[in-house]
Parts: sequence; structure tokens; C-alpha cells
Amino acid sequence: MSRARRQSATSELARGVTATVSVTCLSDGRAHDVPDTELSQPSGYYSALCGHVVAAAPMVAPEGAPCPLCAEVWDLNHGRQRRRLHF
Ligand SMILES: [Zn+2]
Repeated sequence: MSRARRQSATSELARGVTATVSVTCLSDGRAHDVPDTELSQPSGYYSALCGHVVAAAPMVAPEGAPCPLCAEVWDLNHGRQRRRLHF
């Protein structure tokens, strides 16, 4: 997939999102912004705003450092207003 198409897909995903949940990924240890609609996936793997596929860490684990790319994608599509849910 070309870079342009990937960015377009990421923007489309982010544009329709009204709320995200911060989910820490087991593989990179970062807290990614996952659209709340993604959480209905039964696989346990969720696509974050940045395009990273998150392998969810146990909810009792401490939250990782925020993913800067997820924040950037959100800001590009929504400005600075933000509604995040933390579990
Ligand atoms: Zn991310």
C-alpha cells in the first residue's frame, strides 16, 4: 500500500471517530488511542488511530507512555478538543 493511501485510510478512520479509549499495547508499551467502536472486536487486537495494531495489555497494568502519533492524527482531524476514556 502506498504511503498516500495509508494516510488517507488513517484520516478516514480518525475523522469519523468521536471517542477513543487509551489502550496500552503489549508489544511497544505505548498507550494508543483506539476508537471505542474498535473495542467490539473479539480478537483482542485493535487498530489505533496511528494505524498500529494494539495487542491490549491487561487493564490492571499501568498505562504506558502516550503514543505521539495517535495524538497527532487526532489533532489533525479534530483540532485540540479531545474526549478520551481511561480504563
Ligand atoms: Zn498510536
